[in-house]
Amino acid sequence: MTATLTHLTVPARRDRDPVDVPAAERAAHDLLDALGVDLTDESVRDTPRRIARMYDELLTPRPFNPTTFPNDGDYDELVVATGIPFHSLCEHHLLPFVGVAHVGYLPGERIIGLSKLARVVDLFARNVQVQERLTTQVAGWLDDHLQPKGVGVVLEAEHLCMSLRGVQKPGARTVTSALHGLVRDDPRTRQEFLALSGRGRDRAAATCWS
Ligand code: ZN
Repeated sequence: MTATLTHLTVPARRDRDPVDVPAAERAAHDLLDALGVDLTDESVRDTPRRIARMYDELLTPRPFNPTTFPNDGDYDELVVATGIPFHSLCEHHLLPFVGVAHVGYLPGERIIGLSKLARVVDLFARNVQVQERLTTQVAGWLDDHLQPKGVGVVLEAEHLCMSLRGVQKPGARTVTSALHGLVRDDPRTRQEFLALSGRGRDRAAATCWS
């Protein structure tokens, strides 16, 4: 990992502190007040509380037990979960980005339950994020916990900060990928992963080679 990529691996929020819900509620109240919202109106009186709870939900990953199992059958082909829905919050605008993840690995001595691949995406998506970091964190987690022969992660997402403001390009999707080990270095395995993840030859647009 080079120094220039460090920002892609450091968590965006300090040590994943739990959300301070009462402080978030006070801040939401102040923000709405600054935006000119009449907080004495009955229909918005509880909005600061709802906003604080919403961010608490969006930024708190559901706990899971990352159990791995010995690869007793010596399975040596790719394991790929495709089309895993995810949502996260862009750390620059605090607007959602929403899409699908394709996550795969080439097993070594350990394997993991398929549902856990979706849980790993959720673990890092429920944070303030950039899509590039989210991609590398999912791949890094699989490397650390499975020590597989290779890992591939492709994320496709629409960013509401691009759709609704700024360049205003609704429907534009950002694609990021992280390919490690044999998924990166072995042409056949790489092509197989990209085909399974629907990217095909050379379609991965923004790639983090780490
Ligand atoms: Zn943004």
